[in-house]
Amino acid sequence: MKKEGLHITQVSDEISAIKLQITGLVQGVGFRPFIYRLANIYDLKGWVDNSNAGVEVRLEGNEKSLGNFLSTIRIAAPSASSINNIDWKIVGYEGFTDFSIIKSKDNNSGKITEISPDIAVCTDCLMDMKSQQNRIDYPFINCTNCGPRFSIIKSLPYDRKNTSMHDFQLCPVCKSEYLDVKNRRFHAQPVACKICGPSYELIIGSKHHTDFSIILKKISRLTQDGKIIAIKGMGGFHLMCDALQEETVIRLRKTKIREAKPFALMFKDLITLKEYVELNQEEEKLVTSWQRPIVLLKQKKLLPIAINQELNSLGCFLPYLPLHHLMFEHLKTSVIVLTSGNKADEPIAIGNNTARKNLAGIYDAILINNRDIINRTDDSVCMVVNGKSRLIRRSRSYAPAPINLPFSTEGIFAAGAELANCFAIGKDHQAIASQYIGDLKNLETYKYFKYSFQLFSRLFRFRPTFVIHDLHPDYLSTKFAVELDVKSMAVQHHWAHIASCMAENNLDEKVIGIALDGTGFGTDGTIWGGEFLICDLSNFERYSHFEAIPLPGGDKVIHQPWRSTLAYLYSYFKEEIWSFDFVNQLNRSEIEIILQALDQKINCPLSSSAGRLFDAVASLIGVCRNSTYHAEAPMRLEAILINGIEEYYSFSFDKIISFKKMFKEIINDLKSDIAIGVISAKFHNTIIEVIVQVAEQIRMESGLQKAALSGGSFQNKYLLEKTENRLSEMGFDVYSQHKFPSNDGGIALGQLAIAAKEKNVD
Ligand code: ZN
Ligand code: ZN
Ligand code: FE
Repeated sequence: MKKEGLHITQVSDEISAIKLQITGLVQGVGFRPFIYRLANIYDLKGWVDNSNAGVEVRLEGNEKSLGNFLSTIRIAAPSASSINNIDWKIVGYEGFTDFSIIKSKDNNSGKITEISPDIAVCTDCLMDMKSQQNRIDYPFINCTNCGPRFSIIKSLPYDRKNTSMHDFQLCPVCKSEYLDVKNRRFHAQPVACKICGPSYELIIGSKHHTDFSIILKKISRLTQDGKIIAIKGMGGFHLMCDALQEETVIRLRKTKIREAKPFALMFKDLITLKEYVELNQEEEKLVTSWQRPIVLLKQKKLLPIAINQELNSLGCFLPYLPLHHLMFEHLKTSVIVLTSGNKADEPIAIGNNTARKNLAGIYDAILINNRDIINRTDDSVCMVVNGKSRLIRRSRSYAPAPINLPFSTEGIFAAGAELANCFAIGKDHQAIASQYIGDLKNLETYKYFKYSFQLFSRLFRFRPTFVIHDLHPDYLSTKFAVELDVKSMAVQHHWAHIASCMAENNLDEKVIGIALDGTGFGTDGTIWGGEFLICDLSNFERYSHFEAIPLPGGDKVIHQPWRSTLAYLYSYFKEEIWSFDFVNQLNRSEIEIILQALDQKINCPLSSSAGRLFDAVASLIGVCRNSTYHAEAPMRLEAILINGIEEYYSFSFDKIISFKKMFKEIINDLKSDIAIGVISAKFHNTIIEVIVQVAEQIRMESGLQKAALSGGSFQNKYLLEKTENRLSEMGFDVYSQHKFPSNDGGIALGQLAIAAKEKNVD
């Protein structure tokens, strides 16, 4: 028989003994009971043990059975588990008479196994919820195959006493299931029932309801009446309302202070979802996966405009908590807005009291429960491009699953960027990235960053010996990293983007790095963002870039795309701008002040940002002059794009890429009343043309064949899809980000890879 490259001498009935070491995501996902059942099926004796380093199995039996056992492990493993490696060796026969599960021990070796992300409720539990006496309609039902994990864990090993289930004493029924190896709830740490487990409480004004069947009816009634309910979920609070009642959705926008950013929608089931959006096979797989992420999908049926403000994609997800399923059984609507429970840019509320305080004024009723959330997780967001899933926000059900790097990462702390922060720690050969933390400039978010770093250090027995941070001296993540007072290293932002892409694609060689995003601090003190690098994990060279333009008002340009338009037009056309319609529509005295600032170079930092270029074009053609949320202008520009257009605008490229000709041609197109959807397509095609031409030039000069794409601009589906396709057609090996966001949420991984490489060269 053959498995993992090793052989047992013959397929026979001879008795043998083997020992297995299984690493990967194998704890807290029903792995030991699975091994137990498998051993029983093949009549094998021995034991399975949860060690800090993974799972160890000792097996005795005939060789044929051992072979069958080994070849079945990977195929039949629990869906939320993920096996990294199975090592096995032949050992001495001891004559075990049964198969047992050894109680997990904490050996404090410093070696740790993975912590399972949270898992959506499984179908068996949904069935139990309708049949098991003590769990009829019980919203905290779970088993070894599903339920909360990361969100409730305080320390390792993953045992009930180390989770926020600690305070709930198991009742005799739950305890017998917990102890019965044949039961699906064997050692399911959050196991609970109506008698012994956590419970919900609905608060409407001064009234408190604790009877769950009444709670469900009240929620249905309130929702039907256009009310907004704050609901405690797996990794934090949500705000919920009927998605089909426009007035309520508008009210939610006002009270939550969220002007236009699209709301995520939860649909009752897949059939309902298919009524509203187009769904290909890959998207269906993703939206129904055990991670149940929010998937960006193409809208086909009308919904209130207030949901996504005329963007043509919708963030959709399906029920993942027993609570969601139970709610939909009672709700009159089959589509709800289920958006993060926070006000404006604050982190999502996780505590009952915080939620009641911070969300007051938004909700009409609040549903709390008495199980603490230890690790905040936002809903993860992803999309499918070219048949592959791409994470945009990596949080619930993805974090903190690690990825392996080809070198030791031990002791490295990568602080990440500032916007959409996520940090990473190095253990052994792994990069363990935190969940999405958010914008550190928000004080509460920054506090959460610090708290999470402490928690990760404790959970993973991590002590930083080397820190790596962004080159930007003012990033709060940089300041935090430097203050840790260990050996530190700064890394350029766009190099880190490309390194992130390289790390998740297992690349450790020179590549053509194409990094397009909004903002990153450059080595020359200017703002970068339209970058063509030649780099590996040790070094980078800025081969070419978008032309740097002075941006009036510094950070103001991010919220006011019209400033970028004005900056581009003035840089390229000077006094001629007074003949442009766009300029004449703006406030003349305001423009004059800005032009003066530009002339005198006052607060006009130079920027080669791709994000600002997208902003400038979006504003020029009138789809977004002022932006109310991050990347609104590029999103609107993409949303109006008309497909099937091949044309592109002119540009010039001599190491530096100038868009002067393009702007002139856009202005002419506007004058000729060319549809803005066509202009948008031609603009996108121009960027793609720039990418392929520059990549070709680099290939000719350097012989490099591998192109790595990263940076937030590649969250643009059209741009990513066409760029990948064009480069592939031209014979490039194209690499992009899948497991980590191409936005700044992926920076920490890239930083960590660069630091690991640096340390291993030392
Ligand atoms: Zn289950
Ligand atoms: Zn119980
Ligand atoms: Fe970036």
